[in-house]
Amino acid sequence: MKPKVFVTRKIPEKGLELLKRKCEVRVYQGRKVISRKELINGVKWGDALLCMLTEKINKKLIDVNPHLKVISNYAVGFDNIDVKYAAEKGIPVTNTPGKFISRAVAEHTFALIMAITKRIVEADQYTRSGRYEHWEPLLLLGSELSGKKIGIIGLGRIGSGVAERAKGLGLEVIYYDLKKDVQFEKQFKAKKTSLHEILKNADIVTLHVPLLPSTRHLIGEKELAMMKETAYLINTSRGPVIDEKALVKALKQKRIAGAALDVYEHEPELTEGLKRLSNVVLTPHIASATIEAREAMAKIAAENILITLAGKKPKNQVN
Ligand code: NAD
Repeated sequence: MKPKVFVTRKIPEKGLELLKRKCEVRVYQGRKVISRKELINGVKWGDALLCMLTEKINKKLIDVNPHLKVISNYAVGFDNIDVKYAAEKGIPVTNTPGKFISRAVAEHTFALIMAITKRIVEADQYTRSGRYEHWEPLLLLGSELSGKKIGIIGLGRIGSGVAERAKGLGLEVIYYDLKKDVQFEKQFKAKKTSLHEILKNADIVTLHVPLLPSTRHLIGEKELAMMKETAYLINTSRGPVIDEKALVKALKQKRIAGAALDVYEHEPELTEGLKRLSNVVLTPHIASATIEAREAMAKIAAENILITLAGKKPKNQVN
């Protein structure tokens, strides 16, 4: 009998094809996030679960199927899963890192940096609404990037991709991470510094840490107060890394120049007041949404399942 894989959302066909060669695959077909009831039924039915970051995989859910063999998350972050409890139950949890996703997120980070510093969204709205009547010397002035300092918080796969791109644009790179990367520092003439120094000195602060108890609200009222009035905050990591209420307050009071966000503290909800601000750019958690990255993620998520079902240790096990 073929092993059964439950997939909680339609993913690119390339990943499903891989699974279908060896497994019986059931894909939830709804257009919205799967309901808890349907998720429980799917987990009960399957030997393996391929899930999204929109599903909370907690103790209660893991316990509905004592025979579950693997939880394959279709994401790099895995803060939606109780990975410790899964480990206690002997269930490997896997994620989908890789060069395509790191590239996609690093590129999206720059799309956000460009959009906020050049006021692209404001300018687009201005033009569409028919307010563009003539060229003006002081119309929608933005900031130059060349020669400015970018402070990268979390210099992992994505953070270092951001650094590489920053160099190409003539930005000076400083970073903060738990570990020092000597090789990287040489290659990029970059300097490891403290979180405090980054906040005080960077013109652009960009977040690339995982969501952990130690990174929740890493940027709050105190940290925002340390930033330059001319600085921008970019977040493509996880929403709760920023205290969003404190951010809205800082933006309203123009204590920082602006923010560009792909992720939100209570997503998909936005903190009251955020969407009314003109000094923000908001995208709906699409930093990895290139065709290349999403196909690669589908293949990696499928391979993680197939390897585990074959009795081997998956490459991307996180617990
Ligand atoms: P990674 O594990 O390669 O890098 C994370 C880095 O953060 C590591 O270098 C680690 O040492 C550092 N770090 C951890 N805790 C820290 C702390 N308390 N202070 C300072 N540094 C700390 O991960 P990655 O592949 O670069 O991805 C980073 C995060 O980006 C993921 O965890 C995920 O949540 C997020 N992400 C978001 C999207 C999106 O669509 N917006 C897509 C992919 C990943």
